[in-house]
This record gives sequence, C-alpha cells and structure tokens, in this order.
Amino acid sequence: MKEAEYLRWLTEETTSYNDIIGIFFPATMWKQMPHFVQTLLRNYITSVVVYFLLCFLWCFYFYYFKSNVYTPKDSRIPWRKSVIMSQISVSMKAMPWISTVAAISERMIEGGWTKCYISISEVGPLAYIMHVLIHAMFVEFWLYWTHRAMHDIKPLYKRFHSVHHKFNKEDSLSPFAGPASHPVEAVLDVVPFMVLLFLVPMHFTTELILMSLNGIWTLYTHSCVDAEIWPIMSADYHTLHHVTHRYNYGNYTVLMDWMFGTLRPPSIHGDEDKAK
Ligand SMILES: [Zn+2]
Ligand SMILES: [Zn+2]
Repeated sequence: MKEAEYLRWLTEETTSYNDIIGIFFPATMWKQMPHFVQTLLRNYITSVVVYFLLCFLWCFYFYYFKSNVYTPKDSRIPWRKSVIMSQISVSMKAMPWISTVAAISERMIEGGWTKCYISISEVGPLAYIMHVLIHAMFVEFWLYWTHRAMHDIKPLYKRFHSVHHKFNKEDSLSPFAGPASHPVEAVLDVVPFMVLLFLVPMHFTTELILMSLNGIWTLYTHSCVDAEIWPIMSADYHTLHHVTHRYNYGNYTVLMDWMFGTLRPPSIHGDEDKAK
C-alpha cells in the first residue's frame, strides 16, 4: 500500500481533471456527486466530444476539402446519412462501457492497488521507456488475439463482432465506425489497460494518454485513407480486413499479423479475397 499523502495527491490530480468538466454542471450538483461518478462523467463526456469533433474535422478535411487526394481515386465517399447515423448509434451504445472501465481503472490507481506511479523520476527514463514498450506489446498481443478469436469462433462473431462488421465496404466505412462495437467487444478492447496496471509499472498520465490514443487510433483506421508506412497498421490495412473478413487483425502495427501469418498488404489485395 502506498503512502496516504501520495495517494491523496493523485486523487487531487484527478479531481482537477474532473473539475474541468464540472464547470458545465450546476456547482452544488457537481460538488455532491461522488468522486467516482465525476470521473465517469469526465471520461464519458470527453470521449463523446472528442469523437464528434475529430470525426467531423476528419470527414471535412479528407473527404471534402482534400477529396481524392488521400482517399482512393473515384472512391465513393461515405456521406450516406443512414450509414453515418448507424455508426454513431452503435458507437454511442459502446462508449458508456468504455468510460466505465476507464473510471474503474482510475479508482483502482487512486486506491493504491496498482503498480502506477506519478512521476517518471521515481523509476528513471530508461525504465519508463521499457514500461511503455512492454505495455504497448501486451496491448498489441491482446487486441490481435481477441479480434482474431472473434472471427475464428463463429458464435462469438455472430453474437458480438458482426455488429462492427456491418460496415464492410469502402463506402460504408468512416471514422465514425471506429468505436462502433458491441459493448462486450468494447470492454474487451480496454480491459488490457486495466489488467496491465497490476502487472507492469506505468506512469499515471501516460496511462491516460495511451488509453485515449487507442480510442483515437480506431477513428483513423476506419477512415480508408491510404498511407502504407511500415510497420504501421494503417487505415488501408484495416479497410482490407473489413472487406475480406480476414487478414490484418492488428491494432497499431502489422507485427502480430506478420508473426502469426495473417498479414496481407493492401497493395496485393485481389478481388478473389472479397467477402461474399
Ligand atoms: Zn474484424
Ligand atoms: Zn474495424
């Protein structure tokens, strides 16, 4: 158990983050809310605002302002209102669950039950870099295998992952589809961040940044924007995953697909792979 003063400082830090959202609530109402509820609301409201803001900006820039520059030539742009609304609807059902896992994680950190630390100087820069690398590899491994299991085990696909694969063509994918998953799958995608808190020491602010980046990354990978940069699992790799229902299960990089034999670069994509 860590020192009480250390943990109090940590709770004060998260309270200061919460109070940024608190200015949008009546002061007395906000003050009466338990700290956990404030944290949950902060995570949820921030996620929703960032989701809409980034998705609208992304769509405007890449599909309208720079149309046909970064997206495949003559590709049909996913502006069909019904498709976008469906992606938003599925995403909105997943987000409360993602925010709940994030809030529970923070509560466990504040309770001193995890290996989280506040300052990089506590472990040194080398150990900090090692922690981030181990963390990234574990998350990559977890997301690859849970995603692959969702395809290989048909009942899992039918019950959970098919919701995300409703959007399976270039013209039915957009950043709005990023978090559009069944709540069970959405929780599975953020659980590794919570599990790792007990296994690998991690800098507190970096943990929050890594969780947020993971969510933002899914907006990009569903955008159909061409950008093959090895070893990044760029959007065109993930588009190929949606079109074929096979290959390219990874998250940030192509390494897991390369190691486990499921990598398929978009440049060698053939019509024979297309899903029936
Ligand atoms: Zn899939
Ligand atoms: Zn996807």
